[in-house]
Amino acid sequence: MPKQALPSLAGEDLRGRTVLVRVDFNVPLTGGGVGDDRRIRRTLPTLRRLREAGARGVLLSHLGRPGGSPDPSLSLRPVAERLGDLLEGGVRFVAEVRGAAFGEAASELSDGEFLLLENTRFEPGEEENDPELAAEWAALGSFFVNDAFGTAHRAHASTHALPRRIRADGGLAVAGMLVEQELHYLEDALREPERPFVAALGGAKISGKIDVIRSLLPRVDRLLVGGAMANTFFRGLGLETGASLVEEDRVETARSLLEEGGERILLPVDCVVADRIDDSADTRTAGRDEVEPGERIGDVGPGTRTIFAEEISRARTIVWNGPMGVFESAPFREGTMALARAAADVADRGATVVIGGGDSAAAVEEAGVADRITHVSTGGGASLEFLAGNPLPGIEALSEEEER
Ligand code: ADP
Ligand code: MG
Repeated sequence: MPKQALPSLAGEDLRGRTVLVRVDFNVPLTGGGVGDDRRIRRTLPTLRRLREAGARGVLLSHLGRPGGSPDPSLSLRPVAERLGDLLEGGVRFVAEVRGAAFGEAASELSDGEFLLLENTRFEPGEEENDPELAAEWAALGSFFVNDAFGTAHRAHASTHALPRRIRADGGLAVAGMLVEQELHYLEDALREPERPFVAALGGAKISGKIDVIRSLLPRVDRLLVGGAMANTFFRGLGLETGASLVEEDRVETARSLLEEGGERILLPVDCVVADRIDDSADTRTAGRDEVEPGERIGDVGPGTRTIFAEEISRARTIVWNGPMGVFESAPFREGTMALARAAADVADRGATVVIGGGDSAAAVEEAGVADRITHVSTGGGASLEFLAGNPLPGIEALSEEEER
């Protein structure tokens, strides 16, 4: 069911009205300040639009995992400061997430100003999806915007109970511009992908991604498998994987996926192996059937890089989740960097390239090609859930298009 988005809200007279906005300000903090502020920057289009409309924005976000009680090291105060810099003023902060003070602070807002509440996860009700906590927030206004794609797969008070309450009270809950963009690229890639459609999956674990493989397998023309995930598939083929990371309890699953996928699944033909995986590891290239007991597979090998790059260069739609190797360590980074470059090259030629996953996003950034990628998702878990075909509670809770 199509959901309403910010433009339908912009049709309302928002001047002087309070709009509750769920944002994803779950950013790394370093030395008391904001480290990487990309997540903050990506909410700016929505916030600027609300400001132009003269709305008064009350912003909600979680940060880290304080586990339902206040933790001063996870305060959003430094985030409010950075947001104030980025928006050139007009950002207030209240060190409270429920109680009397935030209502008072919200009532002091001028048109176009924002108030960031303290970390929502300081309250146990947030992760419990507590309707009473949501009702306290909902009392502030009758409009809600979800621009936090990174937490759209969670049914929490600020992502689920709150928009439901707003709607129950006759208000409007819509997708922000970032969420709309995320859904647009992910939906298009799945619904009517321009072909060839190639998915590349890697990363540490197969278990978290099995549903994604199952859902993508019938749709893709090729599925490239790298990372430690490939090791479990190697075992499914009966190959020696030495001391590499393998999920023993998934070897059977890998075997049946290989049967189901046939020639559409491409595994690495060679690997970069070493006795240990670190920055000073002494590596060698091994065919996938030449790994010795005791050796560890840390990356895909040069032959695989060429094959994968060719597949990518022929594709018109690419979905990539999970690095091809331990790219954090120099001896094992080339497989991931080569894939990132191939993806950027084909995006330059008009293909749609969608990348999900926190580590994969960091890898394309490190390769210096992030700007050339069609869409780098802000939601690791959320994009995986979506690709696996599962509903996202934070999206489900928004107003339907024909509502009101
Ligand atoms: P994403 O965050 O993009 O979804 P994951 O979290 O699933 O990706 O996986 C990323 C991690 O996988 C990285 O830390 C990387 O070091 C690790 N990894 C990739 N290949 C291997 C490998 N062959 N052995 C061990 N770890 C690996
Ligand atoms: Mg990760």
